[in-house]
Amino acid sequence: MDVLSRIKELTNLINKYRKEYYEFDTPSISDIEYDSLLRELETLENEYPAFIQDDSPVKKIGSLESTKLKKIMHTTSMLSLGNAFNEEELRAFSERIIKDGYNPTFVCELKIDGIASTAKYEKGSFVLGATRGDGVVGENITANMKTIKSLPKKIKDKLDIEVRGEVYMKQDVFNKLNQEKENQNEVLFKNPRNAAGGSLRQLNSKITESRSLDIFNYTIVNPEKYNLKTQIEVLDFLSNQGFKVEPHYRYCRNIEEVIAYIDYIDTLRKTLNYDTDGVVIKVNEFDLYDKIGYTVKTPKWAIAYKFPALEVETRLKDIVFTVGRTGSINPTAILDPVMIAGSMVQRATLNNEDYIKEKDIRINDYVVVRKAGEIIPEIVRVNFERRPKDTTSFKMINACPVCNSKIIRKESQAEHYCSNDLCEGKLLASIIYFASKPAMNIEGLGEKVVTLFYNEGFIKSFKDIYSLKNKKIDLMKLEKKGEKSITNLLNAIEESKNASLEKVITALGIRFVGSKIAKVLAKNFRTLEALEKARIEELLRIPEIGDAIANSIVEYFEKEHKIIEDLKEVGINPVYEEMSFGKTNFLNLNVVLTGKLEKYTRDEAKTLIESQGGNILSAVTKNTDLVIAGTDAGSKLEKAIKLNIKIMKEEDFTKLV
Ligand code: NAD
Repeated sequence: MDVLSRIKELTNLINKYRKEYYEFDTPSISDIEYDSLLRELETLENEYPAFIQDDSPVKKIGSLESTKLKKIMHTTSMLSLGNAFNEEELRAFSERIIKDGYNPTFVCELKIDGIASTAKYEKGSFVLGATRGDGVVGENITANMKTIKSLPKKIKDKLDIEVRGEVYMKQDVFNKLNQEKENQNEVLFKNPRNAAGGSLRQLNSKITESRSLDIFNYTIVNPEKYNLKTQIEVLDFLSNQGFKVEPHYRYCRNIEEVIAYIDYIDTLRKTLNYDTDGVVIKVNEFDLYDKIGYTVKTPKWAIAYKFPALEVETRLKDIVFTVGRTGSINPTAILDPVMIAGSMVQRATLNNEDYIKEKDIRINDYVVVRKAGEIIPEIVRVNFERRPKDTTSFKMINACPVCNSKIIRKESQAEHYCSNDLCEGKLLASIIYFASKPAMNIEGLGEKVVTLFYNEGFIKSFKDIYSLKNKKIDLMKLEKKGEKSITNLLNAIEESKNASLEKVITALGIRFVGSKIAKVLAKNFRTLEALEKARIEELLRIPEIGDAIANSIVEYFEKEHKIIEDLKEVGINPVYEEMSFGKTNFLNLNVVLTGKLEKYTRDEAKTLIESQGGNILSAVTKNTDLVIAGTDAGSKLEKAIKLNIKIMKEEDFTKLV
């Protein structure tokens, strides 16, 4: 589909979903699916501004179109929030502000999944309540807000004040309400947020009252009128005046403390009786707000971090076939881009023919995609309820998509393989793998660049990578990049010659030999030559090596009998090294680093720990063995204390390593 058609399609789809969500409280897709579509449209609109449609939803806040409630103009706009889906985006948010010359601290609050509202008080008495509406005009819900018990109708001081917050429904109230609806054979609410919306925007406030809504307040319009200079002061002030404030907010001195807090909240939120879909991070100092500024839709001094979903539904647009480094024919799903576990996913593995047939996966289906940690995303199941009428069953191809040779499937195997040993697809995949992170880890030589260089004939073997330095000018022309970036790439290539033996063994791409087995082989054989000469019996003597791996290694070197010689020729000839000077201080320990270390950067400390046998974890869990705490250690340290995990101070760490 061309860009313009996709922009039109996304605009229509998103507008439809907005209507369902904001006006009728009946969403038909998940928030993360919605956020992903919106991100895709935003990105396309930035790249192709001429194609932006008149009814583009990208800069719109909420909706008001089909309300039957009376409308009210807001004193100051009620904005939306920008989103961050991972730590990288959070750091970028803080860096943007710091780069502009400001030095903010932050307040983190739980992002309550409900309906934004505003409440006006005159001489300390509640007089008017409104929804956010489209941000400028909201709906008058005064009578309905009066029924919310946790919203004070009189506050401590006789103030004229406007307070904003989130109206929500507790989970137990929601469950009871849906149970009653089920008993009456009525349509159920999808989630507490939609139940809160449906209940708050009623024409009859008696219905609202029966729904036992709740509210958390978090901000005041024009706080300077009350001599408040920071968000922390506002939250204290609100509590003091009798407003209900969500109690888990936290002051953070920098973005690293914010990240540690989010980690802590991700566990805690599962124990709460109300839904949170993220954490709102706000600059604490009000005098910075106007300086940092606003977009038409969001303040730039705040951001909403959304908790990652590990399983998300999206549309499967196509099934394509790629050739793996071992010659396997890999069916791959091309998806409508979707945010999973903090990153945008556009492709997922479909494993093999049997897998697709068993799950009856078809082009145009809506499928549930899962990604956890570093694992490649995969399709878990089809949502048959959303299956369109015009799908056809999957058919396996019978020729290699790259070289057109016959593909074969041996009886005992689930995968098909290309029958051509010299298949170019296989060769390209093996070079991509050679340069990748778990292997030679050559920064700047990812899939796209390798493919480009391959197609141009610059690299047709591992060895060729190391001759690229003689083609600097050609590379600069080809990549349309400056000298600096090509120099960096060439330096990274040179540096990779020092890769450890286990990395080089991994990089060979021998079937069944990933990083773990490569480590075992490195330890046992100590040089590439010794591994090359290894016989089946010798390999089988190693407990971790079974028949399949041993055969695969021997077969590999039979076919690739020049490979080790080639690598030696370009200067790759690693010898197994014991862990740094033989130290094994952290052998098999799961270690978490927190706070700021004075003597080491994070990366240096990580390398030291790993080189002495430890595994680095990002969060403290019950599987953590040791926490190394620098200065300003935050919630990770707290959690370690709670879980009774061993803690080591920086000075002891320094002495030890
Ligand atoms: P948003 O929910 O991302 O952020 C802004 C809102 O956060 C505020 O208006 C406020 O109501 C709320 N909030 C909660 N706690 C807060 C706190 N402590 N401080 C400040 N604000 C707090 O933006 P949005 O424009 O309201 O709506 C977008 C959201 O609605 C997204 O999560 C999106 O996924 C969802 N949505 C879903 C669908 C669907 O079909 N599933 C359709 C439209 C929108």
